[in-house]
Amino acid sequence: MPAVPSVSPHLPISSAGMRVPYNDLHAQYLTLRPAIDAAIAQTLRDSAFIRGPAVEAFERAFAAAIGTKHCVSTANGTDALYIAFRALGLRPGDEVITSAHSWIASSETITQAGGQVIFADTDPTTFTIDPADIARKITPRTRGLVPVHLYGQPAAMDAIMALAKKHHLWVVEDCAQAHLARYRGQAVGTFGNAATFSFYPGKNLGAMGDAGALVTNDDTLENFAAMFARHGGRNKGTHEIEGINSRLDGIQAAILNVKLPHLAAWTRARQSLARDYDARLTGIGDLTLPAVADGTEHVYHIYAVRTRHRDALRAHLAARGIQSQINYPIALPFLPAYRRLGHTPADFPVAHAHQSQTLSLPLYPEITPAQIDYLVAEVKAFFAVTRP
Ligand SMILES: *Cc1c(COP(=O)(O)O)cnc(C)c1O
Repeated sequence: MPAVPSVSPHLPISSAGMRVPYNDLHAQYLTLRPAIDAAIAQTLRDSAFIRGPAVEAFERAFAAAIGTKHCVSTANGTDALYIAFRALGLRPGDEVITSAHSWIASSETITQAGGQVIFADTDPTTFTIDPADIARKITPRTRGLVPVHLYGQPAAMDAIMALAKKHHLWVVEDCAQAHLARYRGQAVGTFGNAATFSFYPGKNLGAMGDAGALVTNDDTLENFAAMFARHGGRNKGTHEIEGINSRLDGIQAAILNVKLPHLAAWTRARQSLARDYDARLTGIGDLTLPAVADGTEHVYHIYAVRTRHRDALRAHLAARGIQSQINYPIALPFLPAYRRLGHTPADFPVAHAHQSQTLSLPLYPEITPAQIDYLVAEVKAFFAVTRP
């Protein structure tokens, strides 16, 4: 059988014959192919397409992996946020504070659940929400906080939980990028009233389609979320409330059950690759490497560097077959979707500066040492030309 190419075919091939895709989901599939194929075949044999035994097994295993009492699986990570806000009883006019620097799922779901999105700026070194700016944004209408453990780095949970306690606010942690990250020894996802995860294929734990989950230690929240995600009733025909349809399908759960036992090793591989980048990319031009806050364990969903030459560096790498990404090119308050809020760069100076300077380099457990060597050499070559 011919070998299946493991990188996307549209990348240019460098003179060295090397290509570095931003991520390589096919390479990860190949490491687990027999088990994943068998899990899918079993689901087909059982016709367990929506929920079913694989879904229930995954919910138990994921709650255990995070260390929460409950896990409610959902169709994706965005729904998990929406469901959490509905479960917490968000009402029209309620204000919810989240990060100016995130994926739009963190904020659009606040609006969809009836709340008012209030953005807070980010920390200049960690990219996570700045507790001092949260404190400035709290009003008598504030109901909750949504810290995002962005790029895999835990937000400053001590300060955030202290603010929540002082002002009687709930906290939903957006852990979509931070599976198994820890803050002062405690797993993210266990600090707030609830936390949400995404298993989008490119996430640190990825399905082969959309998938997500909400975790909580709160029995009442769990019960509401489990009902709400299934048309308002845990069992067909017993609809206690009106809900939505946000169920995890059996094939995705079967795949996640194969992958979950590997998550800890994949996380260590990401951390070790990041240490390698840290050591080899330090002191080059104006390149700023990801800072890790004291007492936090970053899981490097994204390895984001900063440079004033971001766009030129990205083009240099792309021309040599190295893909990079910008997460995110426009900070949330400045997106057309939030024009109604009338924000200007001066409102979020840190998030605004970062949107033109951050670049995400390829980092995933399957990347090869040769690919890393090539990438490091090309970053150095770019900065070897005088770039102050
Ligand atoms: C991926 C992501 C989500 C949403 O997850 P989906 O599964 O794609 O719906 C939410 N928040 C953040 C920060 C994300 O990165």
